[in-house]
Amino acid sequence: MKKISYKEQPVEEYIIREEPYYVPVKDEVEIFTAAYENNLPVNLKGPTGCGKTRFMEYMAYKLECPIITIACHEDLTASDLIGRFLIKGESTEWNDGPLTKAVRNGAICYLDEFVEARMDTRVVIHPLTDDRRVMPIDKLGIILHAPPEFMLTISYNPGYQSVLKDLKQSTRQRFVAIDFDYPPADIEYEIVAHESGIDMEDARTLVEIGQKIRNFKQHGLEEGVSTRLLIYAGMLMRSGIDQKEACRAAMIKPITDDYELQKSIDEIIAAIV
Ligand code: ADP
Repeated sequence: MKKISYKEQPVEEYIIREEPYYVPVKDEVEIFTAAYENNLPVNLKGPTGCGKTRFMEYMAYKLECPIITIACHEDLTASDLIGRFLIKGESTEWNDGPLTKAVRNGAICYLDEFVEARMDTRVVIHPLTDDRRVMPIDKLGIILHAPPEFMLTISYNPGYQSVLKDLKQSTRQRFVAIDFDYPPADIEYEIVAHESGIDMEDARTLVEIGQKIRNFKQHGLEEGVSTRLLIYAGMLMRSGIDQKEACRAAMIKPITDDYELQKSIDEIIAAIV
């Protein structure tokens, strides 16, 4: 008969010790704080690269709560979240998955792009998102009760909607939702300047170009250029790359392979720079 042991997995490494730079855009800080105080799960909705992850890090710091982030993907299974047995020589050791670790230790669990994960993972989170706040671990024959500090959060990009990549109402309606979008221009250029180290004037130009590119969404562009990419363009400029080239490399080429569309966007940039 094999011995089963449980490996303690402390969460110190998930504590954010320095205040992350985050500029609030609307009332997201207040809503998130109220949700946390009421033990409600939260869904951050918005396009990629618009500040959702940074916001989560900022909130974890403010609420003094460790944060465990899981980047969801199509191979992510329920066991990856819950945990599994590993054979260690003569004995078998149980290893908590990241979700179990967050429940046990009262951390915030952030499931980034939750819709990407396999269907079986959705069922796992259901008992944690209603007022039971429990997590059954069948393999151990136990039910974990989440402490008040535990919070479940997911992010979701409504722009990628397809029948397969959509959240069912039965899942959606378990979360308070906060909308995220690219910050308004006056906040976005402040962020771009801060994060990339370029001056305000250059940052303002990048934001202006970014906004023009975002308008191409009505003309076949799948998703607008993210704040993250504007920052990348700023970083390239900071390293001496000419503004036009930086925009091409960080703001046009990453978002589309359509040569004609690239050319049209290039003309817009030429008119501004
Ligand atoms: P998402 O999680 O939505 O894909 P991120 O949180 O990684 O996006 O945002 C990309 C980058 O944009 C961040 O690393 C940060 O530098 C910057 N950013 C976006 N919004 C803000 C904001 N409101 N305050 C500070 N930085 C921001």
